[in-house]
Amino acid sequence: MAYDRIFNFSAGPSMLPEEVLLRAQSEMLNYQGSGMSVMEMSHRSKVYDNIIVAAERLMHEVMNIPDNYKVLFLQGGASLQFAMVPMNLMTKNGKADYICTGSFSSKAAQEAKKYGTVNIAATTKSENFTRIPQQDELVLDPEADYVHICYNNTIYGTVWNYIPDTGDVPLVADMSSCIMSEPVDVTKFGMIYAGAQKNVAPAGLTIVIIRKDLLGEPMAFTPTMMNYKIMAENDSMYNTPPCYPIYVCKMVLEWLRDMGGLNVMQERNIKKAQLLYDYLASSRMFHPTTQEGSRSMMNVTFRTDDEDLNAKFIKESAAAGMSNLKGHRSVGGMRASIYNAMPYEGVVALVEFMKRFEQENS
Ligand SMILES: *Cc1c(COP(=O)(O)O)cnc(C)c1O
Repeated sequence: MAYDRIFNFSAGPSMLPEEVLLRAQSEMLNYQGSGMSVMEMSHRSKVYDNIIVAAERLMHEVMNIPDNYKVLFLQGGASLQFAMVPMNLMTKNGKADYICTGSFSSKAAQEAKKYGTVNIAATTKSENFTRIPQQDELVLDPEADYVHICYNNTIYGTVWNYIPDTGDVPLVADMSSCIMSEPVDVTKFGMIYAGAQKNVAPAGLTIVIIRKDLLGEPMAFTPTMMNYKIMAENDSMYNTPPCYPIYVCKMVLEWLRDMGGLNVMQERNIKKAQLLYDYLASSRMFHPTTQEGSRSMMNVTFRTDDEDLNAKFIKESAAAGMSNLKGHRSVGGMRASIYNAMPYEGVVALVEFMKRFEQENS
């Protein structure tokens, strides 16, 4: 890679496509003849309006989002959605089902309890979140206002390999660490949200995709800034939106569209993940920490049986130009986050390094 860039396996914020960074660089001082940077321009200007309108349109195009859904560009991270979802959607029967498959889904459930009744419809906590529950394990309440899941569990390295059937109850999914990594059938969801800093843009942007019939009256005390309906009525421009991250998001969407869309992205991601998981299956030293059938393409968690060896691996891989391979403290071991922007060569380099490390240390 140019500019002495390294392979950055960070869980987030994480790598962005080099093409996008170079384009941002070339447009930094004077965006398309406007005489100013996107960082400097009024969000009410015509030139910026073109950017945000294009970003919203590209979201529909790239993710195949039907017109009965609204795309919102918000702030506050995925973590603010943990509160916004219940404030806006737990309004009919005052209760919701949460499926706990890791840290973020548990935090979402914890936050929702402040606003109503939370039923834990399933959890794999007793197995240290090494897998996703199957449909027949879900104890769903048909009266729930919605069912909340975390689609890809960034810390534990698991992903839903099916979309749960929730009947007429809207399904709400946190897709922070897998949005745009493969095609998804948006119509199966009432709402999808994602902090953008893993697969889409710099930190500061939160994407919400919500079915329009769910844009109702939120709880009375809901702050204006946390009201989906008001944000939707104002096309994400009630106040100053996160202008620069939206601009990067637009360029990432163009990058995805121009490569052939999410089908092509999915092929690339499968190829990358397969390379790493195949090696893990053959290795005598490294083991995946997740159960087969629930393994994420985005966050690959693994370890050796020896804590000192894990520490040595993390140190030596960083020295070899592969950063942020340390696993989250709640899982230990290692985690390679291989989001959309991680090139195939990055995973090749990692696997080569792991093979060498295994030879040298066994
Ligand atoms: C990173 C992450 C979060 C937290 O996102 P913030 O934008 O930092 O609030 C929530 N959910 C998932 C699945 C994540 O990966």
